[in-house]
Amino acid sequence: MAYLELQGIEKEFGNVRVIRGIDLQINQGEFVVFVGPSGCGKSTLLRLIAGLEENDGGKLLLDGRDITNEPSSKRDLAMVFQSYALYPHMSVFENMSFALKLAKVDQAVIQEKVGRAAKILNLTDYLQRTPKELSGGQRQRVAIGRAIVRAPKVFLFDEPLSNLDAALRGQTRIEIAKLHRDLGATTIYVTHDQVEAMTLADRVVVLRDGKIEQVGTPLELYDRPANQFVAQFIGTPQ
Ligand code: ADP
Ligand code: MG
Repeated sequence: MAYLELQGIEKEFGNVRVIRGIDLQINQGEFVVFVGPSGCGKSTLLRLIAGLEENDGGKLLLDGRDITNEPSSKRDLAMVFQSYALYPHMSVFENMSFALKLAKVDQAVIQEKVGRAAKILNLTDYLQRTPKELSGGQRQRVAIGRAIVRAPKVFLFDEPLSNLDAALRGQTRIEIAKLHRDLGATTIYVTHDQVEAMTLADRVVVLRDGKIEQVGTPLELYDRPANQFVAQFIGTPQ
C-alpha cells in the first residue's frame, strides 16, 4: 500500500486551474523529485501536501489516514524552503531546538536530538555560532536540521539549493543524499535542476501545466521518455 497517496488533487487560484487532477502514489522511504518548468505548479502541489494551501478537489492519504482536511500542524510533515529564514539572534543550537522547546520536549532529549541531527549534517562544531557566522551552505543545513529534529513522517523540500552557488549546491546535494541514506525518510523534493533530479531521485515526476506528464526512475525517463516534452526537459538528444 502507498504511504502517501494523492487522488485527483485539484487547485484553482481565481479562475485558473493550476493543479489539474494529480494522482500519485509514494512508497515509504522513497525519494521522489518533482520537476517541470517554472509556473507548472511544483510549489503549489508541495504546499497542498503540506497543508499550507487547501485543495479544491481530491484527497490526500498519509499512512492510510485521510489528511485532506487536517491542518498543517497535524500532518506530521516538515517542509524546507528555498529561503531559509533562520532566527538571526539565536545560535545554531537554539535555531534547531526551537520547535522542540515550544513543544516542551525535555532538555536532555533536545540535546540528544539536536546533537544527532548536527552530526548527520556536519554542524557539530557550529552549534554555538549565529547564522551570520555561517556560510550559505551551512545555513541551509541548519534549516534542514530544524526539520530533522522533528522526525517528520515526510520531508518536503522546495528548491532548497537554488540560493547557493554551484560548488555549494553540489556539496549540499551530496549531504541531502547522505541524509536520505541515513534516515530513510520519505521525501518529496522540488527542483528545476535536472542534475539534482537525476542524482537524488528514486522516481521523478515530470509536471507540466498542473498535470503529470510522466513518472519514472531517472533511467526510465532517459531511456523511454513518454513524449517530446519529457525528452526535451530531461535533456535527451532529439
Ligand atoms: P512552480 O513552483 O512550478 O514554479 P507554482 O506552484 O509557484 O509553480 O505556481 C503555479 C501557478 O500558480 C503559477 O501560474 C502561479 O502564478 C500561480 N500561483 C501560485 N501561487 C499563487 C497564489 N497564491 N495566488 C495566485 N496564483 C498563484
Ligand atoms: Mg516553485
